[in-house]
Parts: sequence; structure tokens; C-alpha cells
Amino acid sequence: MVTKVLGVPYDAHSSFLRGPAAAPAEIRASLHCGSANWETELGASVGPETERWVDLGDLEISADVEAALAEIQSGVSAAMADGSPVLSLGGDHMVTWPIVRAVAERHRNLTIVHFDAHPDLYDELDGDRFSHACPFARIMEEGLAARLIQVGIRTITPHQRDQADRFGVEVLELRTWDGEIPAVAGPVYVSIDLDALDPAFAPGVSHYEPGGMTTRQLIDSIHSLRPGGAANLDGAARLVGADIVELNPTRDVGDVTAMVGAKLTRELLGLLSGTG
Ligand code: MN
Ligand code: MN
Repeated sequence: MVTKVLGVPYDAHSSFLRGPAAAPAEIRASLHCGSANWETELGASVGPETERWVDLGDLEISADVEAALAEIQSGVSAAMADGSPVLSLGGDHMVTWPIVRAVAERHRNLTIVHFDAHPDLYDELDGDRFSHACPFARIMEEGLAARLIQVGIRTITPHQRDQADRFGVEVLELRTWDGEIPAVAGPVYVSIDLDALDPAFAPGVSHYEPGGMTTRQLIDSIHSLRPGGAANLDGAARLVGADIVELNPTRDVGDVTAMVGAKLTRELLGLLSGTG
């Protein structure tokens, strides 16, 4: 299966700083910069010449939020129309809501594995129900996922704890995390907010939340979802899509975070293409 890569240049619902709209170009630049090879750690080759994936470029997105939601959803739907997995690059975390709307149209009983410092379960933030702090509340209200597993969390509030209980979210708080992703089955979507990582590993994000994951822990977690991996022992789970969000290039230091995005892109391309 040929994975479709899409850029989502949208950051109008960031609550603190703008910047993630510029992320798709930065991740692509790091991916193609020539400093690394195209082998994944698990042994797949994902160079462009392998035709395991195709870059569809950036979506055109309107300023109006309702139009933006529809455009992102329809862009992802079109990319998945032939059954392909989709990997979206960039945007603030609000974009995961319309992306998952499109993924859920094709895949019932979806499990979402969500890496983030923040649960993003607010009913609203500063009066904004479209905020990047709210997408997983919208996703669960709409019944788009059967299961939501959150990893890396270290900012949960009483309100978001109530929301997690209300929606049955499995919140794995980082302070007590055992390093394992729970076993999953069926279609799996992975959403990576780069602030799941400690700011030491990923300074190019809007919300610095120290005490975060290492890049190694994040990569190992993603690898554990492969057939035969610790979270997917019998191969009953299959990755159908993923996003990498919240890269803010205006805060990056020497492209460190963009390179993390590129590395995750490579590893995800291997997994999404079913080749490791
Ligand atoms: Mn987030
Ligand atoms: Mn976050």
C-alpha cells in the first residue's frame, strides 16, 4: 500500500503562539536534507524511489474555521479513497479532529494512540471549542474512536480528568508510566504532538512542558505497535494513519525538532507501509 503524505499548514486555533502552519515545509526540508539515509530502524527502506509513499503536497485551507474543518476532512478522505494510509505533517493539534473524522469514515472501531504533554480534552479553552486544547473532546463526543490511549501526559487538570472519565479515555500519566503501550487490536491511528517529548529533545514547540518523554521512548512506543511488537503481539492491529503536529519552527533550535519530525516521519512511513 502506498502511504499518502499530506501537509496541513494550519495554526489558527493555537492558544498561545502561532507557528505550526510553517511546519510541513520544515519537516520536508529535514527529511530531504541528505544528512540521514532512508532506512528505518526496523529495516525498511523508504526512500522516495521505493514508491512506498507519495507526497501530495499541502492542503489549501481557508481562514473560516468551518470551511477549514471541511477542507481538511475532505482532503484526507480523498487521499484515503483507494484504501491508503495517510501521514499528515504539521498544523496545531486542532487538525487531528477533521483528520480523524475522515479516518473514522473508513475505519470503524478505531483506536487512537495519542502522544502529548496535554490531554487536549478541554470542553472549551478561552471560549474556543475549536482550540488545539480541545480536539480529543470533539473526537470522543462524535464517537469517532472506540478507544483513546494517551501517553506522555503531565498537565492534566480536574476538568480534563472529568472529561477523561466521561469519555473512558485511558490516560497514561508520564509520572507513573511503565514504558509500555497497552495491547491494541484493529485499526490504529497515531497522533504525535511533539510536546510529548521533553523540551530538551524538542524545543521547537509552543508549550514547553519539562519532564517529558525521550525521543527514544517515543520511537520505541511507535515500534511496539508493529505486528509482533509488544503492543501488537498477534498482529491484529494495523496502523491506518498518523499525524505529527505542533512543530513550531519559530521556536526551534538548529532544526533539532524538525529533524525529530523527519525521523518520526521515516519510522512511520515504514510502519504505515507495512514494511517495518
Ligand atoms: Mn496536543
Ligand atoms: Mn501538547
